[in-house]
Amino acid sequence: MSSVFDDLVGQEHIIDILKGAVAASRTGSDSQEMTHAWVFTGPPGSGRSSAAVAFAQALICPNQGCGVCNECQSAATGGHPDVEVIRTDGLSIKVEEIRELLTHVAWAPSMGGWRVVVIEDADRLTESAANALLKAIEEPGTRTVWLLCAPTLHDVLPTIRSRCRHLQLRTPSIDAVTQVLIKRDNISPTMADFAARVSQGHIGRAKYLATNESVRSNRKVIMQLPLQLSSLAAAFQAAQTLVDIATTEAHTSSEKRDEKEVEKLQEAYGKGATGRGMATGAAKAVKELEKEQKSRATRMVRDSIDGALLDLATFYRDVMMAQAGVTVSMINSDMRSEIESYATSFPTHTAAQKMSAILEARKHLAMNSAPLVTCEALMCELTRK
Ligand SMILES: [Zn+2]
Repeated sequence: MSSVFDDLVGQEHIIDILKGAVAASRTGSDSQEMTHAWVFTGPPGSGRSSAAVAFAQALICPNQGCGVCNECQSAATGGHPDVEVIRTDGLSIKVEEIRELLTHVAWAPSMGGWRVVVIEDADRLTESAANALLKAIEEPGTRTVWLLCAPTLHDVLPTIRSRCRHLQLRTPSIDAVTQVLIKRDNISPTMADFAARVSQGHIGRAKYLATNESVRSNRKVIMQLPLQLSSLAAAFQAAQTLVDIATTEAHTSSEKRDEKEVEKLQEAYGKGATGRGMATGAAKAVKELEKEQKSRATRMVRDSIDGALLDLATFYRDVMMAQAGVTVSMINSDMRSEIESYATSFPTHTAAQKMSAILEARKHLAMNSAPLVTCEALMCELTRK
């Protein structure tokens, strides 16, 4: 029989725990297996929010997570009255959002089972939002289950995490990701292998890469950059190229969504309505939405640059491997000859230095440094022999 847990690649160690909790939740007693607050942590792409959503489905499904019944399907698509999935595209989850959430999760579950709240980016809760949430998590005897997701446990407020059961997801193996792409997404074995390898176990990115030709060709341009760094002028050019590609990629995926959101909002206010109050209300709401969208766009560009830097790091990682004479586990095996010739033309210690320069640049970006300047500084560093 199929199960909502089937898609959790390489996470057998937590699937058992979740299934145990679902079984225990049916007995009605507050046993050790079933608790009211959980934190799912794991590296990007390990599927922490998929795990949380699968758990939510299993908790409300009459068959403990069959994946095909109405309950399972509506929970996954956001249509189930007892399952609430909070995702943010902005930089933070604000206290107003949590307060509004608390007003409706306080009711008893409509179907008599559990009310499940998944917070996908618990690391983005502002401090006051986290404190508001803490009060709700502390409340005993409710039928609400809280599932928080974050990259690491340190990203969650200590007072919250001490009240949660912690599940740590692993980065799935490249083989496991390859198999999922082939079986679940009907991707050809060669493409699946390539995408899984260069995405380093990040399932979402692997699928995105395997199914988007433009993303693949952009990646190819990025991966050629280290080979072009022959002068400072080339370094500045490379930085510009990287930022341009990352920005375009981020914009194409956000523009369509932005338009749809504005349209939906205008519809909600009654597009073309002439009442004066209506018009100002709509204008204000659209303005607020556009502010949110702007902050999301900024974040997406940063994420996109970060992804490009991660790709670049794999180049130098492969150079290091080649210099050490280990070439079996090369990530960019499609660039084998370029990497091998680069490896012989640079002294062996430089690849490690360049990898730490990339790491440093990523840190600066995460602290909101200006993207182009950060990339320029990085490319100059990467140009050094
Ligand atoms: Zn089901």
